[in-house]
Amino acid sequence: MEIERIKVTPETPLEQPSSPEEFRARQLKARDMLRGDLEGADLDAYVEERVMTTTLEKVLNVARANSIFPATFGLACCAIEMMSTVSPRYDIARFGAEAFRASPRQADLLILSGRVSIKMAPVVRRIYDQMLEPKWSISMGACSSSGGMFANYAVVQGADRFMPVDVHVPGCPPRPEALIYGFNKLQRMIMGHPDPGWRARYNATGTEEWARGGAGSKPSPEAVEAYRKAREALGA
Ligand code: SF4
Repeated sequence: MEIERIKVTPETPLEQPSSPEEFRARQLKARDMLRGDLEGADLDAYVEERVMTTTLEKVLNVARANSIFPATFGLACCAIEMMSTVSPRYDIARFGAEAFRASPRQADLLILSGRVSIKMAPVVRRIYDQMLEPKWSISMGACSSSGGMFANYAVVQGADRFMPVDVHVPGCPPRPEALIYGFNKLQRMIMGHPDPGWRARYNATGTEEWARGGAGSKPSPEAVEAYRKAREALGA
């Protein structure tokens, strides 16, 4: 394989000038601008090159998404994987979320890392309620998302039954990479451009929607077609 080395040159006007002459030209232009000598098209071009406009909300959301303080809180075996996300190997500090807070009042992310027993659910809910807005939560692992293997009366069959959940991370336990992937999804949600669900990504039409709608619900023509194709593929 041939490796070609290419020098990266600045492409935007905000980056470093490529020669001393260009640097001098910029200095003179800036001086003219400060003196009020720059007018018309020159002034328009100068402003267009240097001014970026956005909304306060967008800036706030970028700041929030990149400085999340998760609560120091673990429920079961999944918590061990959660702990390792702060280790140098996985390094969640890359995304600004390494400062786990010991008080819910200083945390804005609750990671439900493990099964939630019926007795524990009110405690978890209280911790969530004590966190200040805006706040988010990740359900980590099969147990907290659906009860996992503990299909019994002692374990809550899905944490979203007693508190809002923003992202579910599947697995038993999910690896630290999976949790970080879920965390990145949450960041994109906070910044206002969430990933599309798998249906939107693959332009898929499933059959679960009408199945969940109960006995009276009618499937859409697309759902009927998708169901027929799936049955065909299975040879049923
Ligand atoms: S999902 Fe697996 S690893 Fe996580 S709490 Fe449940 S049993 Fe433990």
